[in-house]
Amino acid sequence: MSKVLLIGSGNAHKAEELATLLAGLPWEVRSLKDFPAVEEPEETGETFEENALLKARYYGRHFGVACVADDSGLCVDALGGAPGVYSARYAGPDCTYDDNNEKLLDELEEYPWHQRTARFVCCAAFLEPGGEPQVFRGEVEGHISVEACGEAGFGYDPLFVPSGEERTFAEMTAKEKHALSHRGRAFAQLRAYLESH
Ligand code: IMP
Repeated sequence: MSKVLLIGSGNAHKAEELATLLAGLPWEVRSLKDFPAVEEPEETGETFEENALLKARYYGRHFGVACVADDSGLCVDALGGAPGVYSARYAGPDCTYDDNNEKLLDELEEYPWHQRTARFVCCAAFLEPGGEPQVFRGEVEGHISVEACGEAGFGYDPLFVPSGEERTFAEMTAKEKHALSHRGRAFAQLRAYLESH
């Protein structure tokens, strides 16, 4: 009988992406929608690793199941690595994706293309009851475009052009994005771990 693997994310877009990345494994993949409502944990970590583990631990312990959670963000070189772990709330506590994108474009207004380098980072944490925590990191290098392009994906996708591409993530299909993305890379490692254990 397959075991339950909970995706510990309150972000519906992200939970959907993660379910796709974990499909086909001998685990019964469930999202928070399948469990009684629970408050989200405060993301108090200073690194992506800490926050990913904090979320996997919180939801896994609360429901007594194996849990996978990720923490991710955009690190822009010209901004000293910001917004980093604060990517979700870059433009303020209740901001929208559009607010964040607008703020980022404003901050980078004076910067030419070659100084608009950035990377997406994702850490995926997996924890089984009584097991050792596992954390996997994925990154993708790219540039921040001068205007938003594309409708797909979420967050900063309309602004991020991965290296070697001319389109933003928001102009790609989910399959194309995952083949290159930080989350795709972190979860490929997690999949390999789950397949071999
Ligand atoms: P988290 O839910 O704490 O991991 O916050 C991640 C935030 O980083 C999101 O709210 C987005 O703003 C941004 N982000 C992370 N991954 C992506 C991605 O694949 N595309 C676009 N934005 C992303």
